[in-house]
Amino acid sequence: MEKRQELYAGKAKSVFRTDDPDKMVLVFRDDTSAFDGKRIEQLDRKGMVNNKFNAFIMTKLQEAGIPTHFEKLLSDTDSLVKCLDMMPVECVVRNVAAGSLCRRLGVEEGVTLTPPTFELFLKNDALGDPMINESHVESFGWAKAADLEKAKILTYKVNDVLKAIFAEGGMILVDYKLEFGLYKGEVLLGDEFSPDGCRLWDAKTKEKLDKDRFRQGLGGVIEAYEDVGRRIGIDFDS
Ligand code: UDP
Repeated sequence: MEKRQELYAGKAKSVFRTDDPDKMVLVFRDDTSAFDGKRIEQLDRKGMVNNKFNAFIMTKLQEAGIPTHFEKLLSDTDSLVKCLDMMPVECVVRNVAAGSLCRRLGVEEGVTLTPPTFELFLKNDALGDPMINESHVESFGWAKAADLEKAKILTYKVNDVLKAIFAEGGMILVDYKLEFGLYKGEVLLGDEFSPDGCRLWDAKTKEKLDKDRFRQGLGGVIEAYEDVGRRIGIDFDS
């Protein structure tokens, strides 16, 4: 497999073509962004930590029967994935109220949500990733209704798998964002799963161990990501 020209640079990852038209390389950079890209900083080791974190989680999800684009780790910062035709929507499940849900509905942070909520956001930084619903997705052609339904089912299935993994490590999976795409007609989980796109709290102390440390200027961002990783069995040195 040969890494070829850069296709696209996102806020935290770059995407490169390969000699196989069905595969591409994700390069996890040290860049960290928040507030729809309005604040960007470099955090040492972040690319390596998120690449290995994502590889571990994607492998666990695949073992649990959730189809993902992940193929294999190529280096500390690079992973080989299948090329997907991405749906421009973010699927968010929440087990506990935090973040935009609290701002939007005036709910207190920490309230348990039973059953977990499911929300959709349009991927559009210029519009601030507005909340949308399933009828918007269909009417504007962002995805077919049946494919969105599959993505929704997979998003909930991810919750069952990951809640248990993080609970074993003494953490609460508060919420998370997933992105899906089509590969030869099949809906696969794409993008990444790392503490950049979820909220994780220590189960006892409720300490924040995710990107809220960056958003809220709490410091120790990568140290927290590595702590989460080690608690679920990731070896960042291998
Ligand atoms: N999230 C994300 N990318 C986004 C927006 C949200 O990864 O562009 C994640 C975020 O980290 C959290 C979940 O989705 O785990 C729900 O985010 P929320 O709607 O509360 O928005 P925020 O408070 O992050 O603006």
